[in-house]
Amino acid sequence: MTDTKKTALVVSAHSADFVWRAGGAIALHASQGYAVHIVCLSYGERGESAKLWRKGEMSEDKVKIARRSEAEAAAQILGATVEFFDIGDYPMRADKETLFRLADVFRRVQPEFVLSHSIKDPYNYDHPLAMNLTQEARIIAQAEGYKPGEKIIGAPPVYSFEPHQPEQCEWRPDVLLDITEVWDKKYAAIQCMAGQEHLWEYYTRVALQRGVQAKRNVGITSTRNIEYAEGYQSLFPRVTENLG
Ligand SMILES: [Zn+2]
Repeated sequence: MTDTKKTALVVSAHSADFVWRAGGAIALHASQGYAVHIVCLSYGERGESAKLWRKGEMSEDKVKIARRSEAEAAAQILGATVEFFDIGDYPMRADKETLFRLADVFRRVQPEFVLSHSIKDPYNYDHPLAMNLTQEARIIAQAEGYKPGEKIIGAPPVYSFEPHQPEQCEWRPDVLLDITEVWDKKYAAIQCMAGQEHLWEYYTRVALQRGVQAKRNVGITSTRNIEYAEGYQSLFPRVTENLG
């Protein structure tokens, strides 16, 4: 990674969240030359691997190995690097060491923008925990007093990617990202998630739905042929040079 390369950081509670929720953004920015790095806090071994457990004769270690190889294959297709913290899920708990470990990732990556979960999710307490951890790590990485002498980070925008049930999570997109040109990559990455085959078509429908909304929002005179999109909610005001 060179100093001039643009970078992005994605923090995923479980090993497949980044694929459903941000796979398009990852592939799109990778194709634009960004070095995109993904942190999977857990493998989703307990809560998001039902199909693997139903196979029988499974252990947590076996599930983790299977989930890790699925996520690595997906990240490779999307053009990103990935690391695994393996802090466990259902319940996910993060200690200070994990917080500092993530702050160190922020310092190392120096991201231009950050993607993680919605702040609320009454169906899944691991997801808001991942976002809280991400935000706190970002603030620590900005602090001159944390590991003085290291290069601090700026103020990268933070976006929540789409949760499974947006209304209940009080998630409302204010950014629609056109992912049409990388949809084939996202769908190929989705197909790596053999343990959650029931979600493949669901997240295809989500992308099509957001695509229709994106197209509507650019107006009928636009020549952009948007078919697939991802929704994001920004946590902070976006600073811009003009309003066009
Ligand atoms: Zn999850």
